[in-house]
Amino acid sequence: MDSDQLAENSLDCPSYIAKPGADLFGILSENGKVNYLPEKIRIDKTFVEESQKGRPAEERFRFSGKCIQHGCNQWENGKCGLIEKVIFLHQNPVSASLQNCAIRNSCRWYAQEKELACANCSGVFRNSETIFLQTL
Ligand code: SF4
Repeated sequence: MDSDQLAENSLDCPSYIAKPGADLFGILSENGKVNYLPEKIRIDKTFVEESQKGRPAEERFRFSGKCIQHGCNQWENGKCGLIEKVIFLHQNPVSASLQNCAIRNSCRWYAQEKELACANCSGVFRNSETIFLQTL
């Protein structure tokens, strides 16, 4: 396996579920946009249990975790199909200033779509794969 393939296989999904071992990297503000944390925070069972009280944690926080590629129902034609849908839905152009994001170096969406992914990322508030990934 070459280094490109290794890097490809180590990318993280930026629309992950709240489960122990995932990384918290964003908090939804009242206007529905993501506030990106300066550092990602590894979450544990206690955080998951507390954060699920009230409404699903995925509606209030953004998490990342290992991209499972073919194991995910969003995987299409050798890449994540979800970010293309997100971009199509929001239609935000690339902005002059890129927001800070603690997971950019390993983000699957950024690896695929670069700044266009980031321009359309902050409106994502719910992991549409929640039910699927909870079964893993
Ligand atoms: S798309 Fe950009 S802003 Fe969103 S999680 Fe990935 S690197 Fe961060």
